[in-house]
Amino acid sequence: MFEDIPVDVSPMYEGERIRAANMFVELAGPKSIGAELVQVKEDVEDGKIEVVGPNIDEMKEGKIYPFGILVEIKGEKLEKELEGVIERKMHELCNYVKGFMHLNQRDQIWCRISKETKEAGFKLEDLGKALSALYKEEFPIIESMSIRILTEKSEVESFIETARSQYEQRDARSRELSEEDVDVFYGCVMCQSFAPTHVCVVTPDRTALCGAINWFDCRAAAKMDPDGPIFEIEKGAVIDDVKGEYENVNAAVAEKSQGTFDRVYLHSVFGHPHTSCGCFEAVAFYIPELDGIGIVDRDFKGETPLGIPFSAMAGQCSGGKQIEGFAGLSLEYMRSPKFLQADGGYERIIWLPKDIKSSLEGFIPEDLMDKIPTDEDANSIKEIRKFLQDAEHPIMERLKETESDKAESPEIEEEGEEMEKVGMEGVPVAPVAQVPELTVPTSGGVRIIFKNAKIYAEKVIIKKK
Ligand code: SF4
Repeated sequence: MFEDIPVDVSPMYEGERIRAANMFVELAGPKSIGAELVQVKEDVEDGKIEVVGPNIDEMKEGKIYPFGILVEIKGEKLEKELEGVIERKMHELCNYVKGFMHLNQRDQIWCRISKETKEAGFKLEDLGKALSALYKEEFPIIESMSIRILTEKSEVESFIETARSQYEQRDARSRELSEEDVDVFYGCVMCQSFAPTHVCVVTPDRTALCGAINWFDCRAAAKMDPDGPIFEIEKGAVIDDVKGEYENVNAAVAEKSQGTFDRVYLHSVFGHPHTSCGCFEAVAFYIPELDGIGIVDRDFKGETPLGIPFSAMAGQCSGGKQIEGFAGLSLEYMRSPKFLQADGGYERIIWLPKDIKSSLEGFIPEDLMDKIPTDEDANSIKEIRKFLQDAEHPIMERLKETESDKAESPEIEEEGEEMEKVGMEGVPVAPVAQVPELTVPTSGGVRIIFKNAKIYAEKVIIKKK
């Protein structure tokens, strides 16, 4: 099937990483622009593959280029609602090509081509040929397909605009419904190839954490392929409608995570939050010192108030884990009225990057808009606390209550006693850091991994270097 492509194409290359040392060029990604889009059309010239802009052999080694992929498909049984799911499959199928790495989705894509693959004579048309064959094998209802690959900056810029308006139309549609309006939710296990215990639960209020698949997309996909990676979950009995806990969702997650998790709260980062694969658009993280929640997205390059950037946080809570205090989520979920409702919704949000905040105008309650600091207002815990105080953010009331509860609480005493046992003289201590996973290197081929570690300190000394 792939005889005319100069490199191997097979699922065995999925998961192949192309490091900077072995990279010929990078396409799209955080230092450039890019997008991918699948569109169902009436008129599609089957087999047409077009490249607009410099091809691989015209690119310079080590450089980064804008990148867009437009896939147009036609088929009697193809529905517009399948576009999102077929588009999401692009990630997996591109990665079947040896020496081609594809990360993320929509306008967040990030690709690399290896030196070896360039040397083999690989061109962008070959990527188109591979995608065309793989897509038709995966979705036999696709009768015709044409592919347009863009590397010319101005072309990619206008393509991104078109793509974003299509994403917005898909997302807006799912805002018309809420969990109470439907009897069926959906699950997706497409990401289990790299996060074996991850199960996405998609409801009208909770678009999948990759941001690329909503409830309507899932409905169309499950109808097209009932035995595929996207499946129906009868809503069944509600255990807690605020946390978003459902009997059948728990059962489905237990089955599909091979028994690793048996409870999921759809609308909380505490207790049993939704599992996170690695494709999430953003992460919600608990800030224990202020008893609030911060949000950081993939595009934010600075450090979060926890002192680590998005990439480090993503590394700690991805892979299909369920980590209390952290939850991967889509930006679209932040537009839902149920957004982290069990934790207090936006009343509990105390930090987020400016770009996300601007994109959520009209969705963040008006009275809170000026009370939530962004990276431009405050970054350290001290700065955030001051901002919240000055802005009279509702978290300050909560914090006062929590702090006075703590002062009276016998728990601190117990912790003090516990510390006494290890020679700390019962000094009351406060948590200074909480990490989902901490690996301590040791000798002798052994690693010690602390999960959900809370680090307590008698004293914290900050020294200037
Ligand atoms: S993030 Fe979730 S919905 Fe998106 S492809 Fe992965 S498993 Fe499916």
